[in-house]
Amino acid sequence: MEKRWCSACGEAFEPRPQAPRQSYCEKSDCQKSRKRLWQKTKRKTDHDYHENQAQAQLNWRKDHPDYWREYREAHPDYTAKNRQKQSQRNARRPTQGNPLIANSDASPTGLPVTGLFKLVAITPNTWGGRQEWLVQMTLMS
Ligand SMILES: [Zn+2]
Repeated sequence: MEKRWCSACGEAFEPRPQAPRQSYCEKSDCQKSRKRLWQKTKRKTDHDYHENQAQAQLNWRKDHPDYWREYREAHPDYTAKNRQKQSQRNARRPTQGNPLIANSDASPTGLPVTGLFKLVAITPNTWGGRQEWLVQMTLMS
C-alpha cells in the first residue's frame, strides 16, 4: 500500500482508496488543521462564503452577548495567556494608520481591491534569487 506523509503532523499514513488525493492522516487534530486551512482559503477566495461567515458570527455574538465576558471571567489563565500573546502580536504588527486589532468582519470583502500589486515568490527560484512581479489586478465580481 502507498505511504504518504501527513501535511499536518508529518507522520506516514496510508491514504484511503476513496480519497486518492488525501494529504492529511485521519487523526482528529490533523483533520482539524485540514478544515482550518480549507476555511481560511475559502474565506479569502469566496466572497459569498466570507460574507455568510461574518454574518453568522455577528448573529451569534448578538444572541450570546455575554459569552466571551463570562468565558474570560471563568478562565483567568486563558485570559492572561491571551493578553500576553496579543501583546506579542501587536508588537510585530505595523500600527501606522491601522487599528491594533480588527475583527474578521471589519474588512467589507476580505478580498483585494482593484489595483497594482507586487507579487513576491516566497520560495527562492532555482538559482537562489528572489523573484518579484508587478501585477495589475481587476476585481471581476
Ligand atoms: Zn497527521
